[in-house]
Amino acid sequence: MSAQTPPTLLKLAMQALLRDETLNMSALDKLPMVFFTALFKEALTGRHTTTVKAMAAAWPFPCLPVGALLKTPDLETFQAVLAGVDTWLQRKFHPRGKLQVLDLRKKYHEFWSIWAGVEDGDCSVENQDEQQVEKVLPKYALRRHLKVVADLCLRPHVDEEQTCFLQWAQQRKGSIQFWCMKMTIWIQPVHVIKEVLKVFHPEHIQEFELNTEWNIFLLARFAPCLGQMRNLHKLLLAPVSKNIFKIGNRTTDMEDKCINKFISQFSRFNCLQHLSFRRVYFLRNRIKRVLRCLMTPLETLSITHCNISHSDLNYFSECLKLFQLKHLDMKGMGLKALDLMPLQVLLENVADTLQSLDMKCCRMKDSHLIVLIPALSKCSQLAKVSFYCNDFSMPILRNLLQHTANLSKMNVEQYPAPLECYDDFGYVSTERFTQLCAEQIDRLRAIRQPKRIFFATHMCLRCGKCCVYNRRFRPCLCQRRLQ
Ligand SMILES: [Zn+2]
Repeated sequence: MSAQTPPTLLKLAMQALLRDETLNMSALDKLPMVFFTALFKEALTGRHTTTVKAMAAAWPFPCLPVGALLKTPDLETFQAVLAGVDTWLQRKFHPRGKLQVLDLRKKYHEFWSIWAGVEDGDCSVENQDEQQVEKVLPKYALRRHLKVVADLCLRPHVDEEQTCFLQWAQQRKGSIQFWCMKMTIWIQPVHVIKEVLKVFHPEHIQEFELNTEWNIFLLARFAPCLGQMRNLHKLLLAPVSKNIFKIGNRTTDMEDKCINKFISQFSRFNCLQHLSFRRVYFLRNRIKRVLRCLMTPLETLSITHCNISHSDLNYFSECLKLFQLKHLDMKGMGLKALDLMPLQVLLENVADTLQSLDMKCCRMKDSHLIVLIPALSKCSQLAKVSFYCNDFSMPILRNLLQHTANLSKMNVEQYPAPLECYDDFGYVSTERFTQLCAEQIDRLRAIRQPKRIFFATHMCLRCGKCCVYNRRFRPCLCQRRLQ
């Protein structure tokens, strides 16, 4: 008998079972465990909704991580799973134990890997099945109520599957615990989010992304909900268009009060590690207030596309919560008018931890980079840097690269084309650009081996694209037409 025989037999048996859509509960309760997961997967793939429903109702394991198998949306199959869970809830007796967690997150789940071994004919796995499956149950799985875990992305036009799920959840919020680990919001009214948070309690949310067009008054109304997200690991706040948080005709005092109410919620986060703000205008002169509220050291700080003041930057050098940073993203932050000494102090403080630094489009000049070079040369863990779209001359870029000999972990490095590449009208000379970049890379090779190094010009005034040089020259669109 060849090693391939058992799966083939299993497959044949499953096809026979799937053809007979009259599998009833008592038959399923007796179906060997080795068959159960394989048959369920087969039923889902083939959209045998009657079988899917019956199998969900008779699910013999504590965890049903069905989201991992539903990556391609199919409303009928999804509804069949939910209908099966409803039937499961109505059953008074579960002969093989209780379902504790229905996991709808569309990502890999270890459960299916454990059972894949069984389906491939490795019957030794079957004996340990229950113990192993118990082990992959998340810690939060309590025994009393069924828990449904999902990630939610709420957009103005919610897809059919999510609409169906939200309605189902709303009707069962009294009897099932709903946990949303990752919530992303795109342009939704405050009252809609508040309704969703009545079903999915904020304290279970670990990642929260708020892309909104609310003004600061609405943001303050939402603040208490944000404060309840005590277990947040990751937070992103981003208005969808510039300066949207402003209130046109209200007083500054009132605006300030609203902003304070919002910021004060940050002191409630017990385990925040990643904090990102994109185009949040009200951070100027308030960064100190935000950072002082934090309860835990940050791994990621991302404050992009906004202007900060010198007192904001000063606090970067003092804030202990930033001294273990792994990722610092300041792209699009206007630094032209600032003294970067505090940033140099911060870089020295994070020299042993910083892995990525993004300072694209910060409008820095030579005088700014000179200040940062000594500290940058000590950041031994740096794997990715970007300085695209700053105004550096050839000598200062050469100086920077000469000081990077110790950065052995560097994987991706992005530098602006030196100013010497542009003519008086701001147009790039492609010959000069190619020649200077090639020279830089050759010099760098003398001290270390760069892996992925790029030089890019400013955005072309004609086509809006950049010319890029890494191993070869890649022209912008109009240069490409000329060639
Ligand atoms: Zn162009």
